[in-house]
Amino acid sequence: MTTQAKATPQTNTASTTEAAAPILPGATVGVLGSGQLGRMFAIAARKMGYRVHTYSPEGDTPTGQVADSEVCAAYDDLDAVRGFAHGVRVVTFEFENVPFATAEAAGQCVPVRPAGSVLHVTQHRLREKTFLRDAGFPVTPFTAVRSLEELQRAIAKQGLPGVLKTAGFGYDGKGQVKITAPERVEPAWKQLGTSEAVLEAFVNFRCEVSVVAARGVDGSFAHFGVIENRHANHILDVSVSPARVSDKVREKAIELTRGILEKLGVVGVLCVEFFVTPDDGLLVNELAPRPHNSGHLTFDACVTSQFEQQLRSICGLPLGDTRQHRPAAMANLLGDLWERGEPNWAAALAMPGVKLHLYGKAAARAGRKMGHLTAMADTVDEAERIVIAAREALRPR
Ligand code: AMP
Repeated sequence: MTTQAKATPQTNTASTTEAAAPILPGATVGVLGSGQLGRMFAIAARKMGYRVHTYSPEGDTPTGQVADSEVCAAYDDLDAVRGFAHGVRVVTFEFENVPFATAEAAGQCVPVRPAGSVLHVTQHRLREKTFLRDAGFPVTPFTAVRSLEELQRAIAKQGLPGVLKTAGFGYDGKGQVKITAPERVEPAWKQLGTSEAVLEAFVNFRCEVSVVAARGVDGSFAHFGVIENRHANHILDVSVSPARVSDKVREKAIELTRGILEKLGVVGVLCVEFFVTPDDGLLVNELAPRPHNSGHLTFDACVTSQFEQQLRSICGLPLGDTRQHRPAAMANLLGDLWERGEPNWAAALAMPGVKLHLYGKAAARAGRKMGHLTAMADTVDEAERIVIAAREALRPR
């Protein structure tokens, strides 16, 4: 375990019995995970006078670069996790693939928000989908499969096309394969190489939307409206807000999101990703118990960002005003953009209303999220046009 401390005081007098008292500016908050979500959380927290400690197996991370202290240790080193938790007033996480035992160990020392139980459900597709279905939320039809024979039986029942996904540790389309023909069933099972998977019906959706929302310690609820998302190669490409959907879809998506946060007892931020079906129905695709890529535009476009909201909610403070100043669009910058050299930052920044966010990652690998652009304009269509033009302008010629 290594710790790169840039700050001094360790004033952890918190215990889980003090959970109801707000954790005020000046206190230290802990983040499990060290990617860009933790980085933007740390920026929001430091802006409000908090100290931030981050914990992950890597060093010189996007979060560590802006945190007060970067602890570098394995997630299954539970003594190190407890040591980390003793140094902060509350622990949150910035990605859901932190082992449940890690969250539990931290929870023996300080509140973990959202709780380990939320992590447990949302880090495993099968548990998540079963929870949603059993609680009466609309979810993509699915079947649990644990062998090739079970997969074949599930396909006979469900039909093709289908999407086969690993039950655990999947994100951004990793660990999933679309099956379109019977002869592809066996190769798909082999390709996934897992002992537990979920077969989903392939949904011919009209569009994808998400709702990023927060729930406070006192049960208060706030949302950032409905955001419209477009994916490329299973990775989020562009998000726009507000989404171009009917009022009926908007109201229903928010109502379902509120119900999910309440049912899970979330304290913190959670994002619900939906498919909008051709008849304006909604199916929940996935839950993320943390700020979400689609909510990055809130950093520039809203009174309170999703990251400040995460801080407020985990610290037991009042939730912030989520009003959006102007229609906005966000475009992800993947490592592919660096293939022909350093992107032309000045060209994008010359465009009015465009904001640049980079995550401090040194190696630009294909498909790796390196940063994003946000654009604001008078209409969503215009914001989308500008953000895509700005991204094009980045390409070195
Ligand atoms: P996921 O990692 O499960 O959120 O999947 C990433 C993306 O793949 C989604 O946002 C969709 O664009 C697509 N996808 C996943 N599952 C399905 C499905 N059952 N039907 C259609 N598209 C899907």
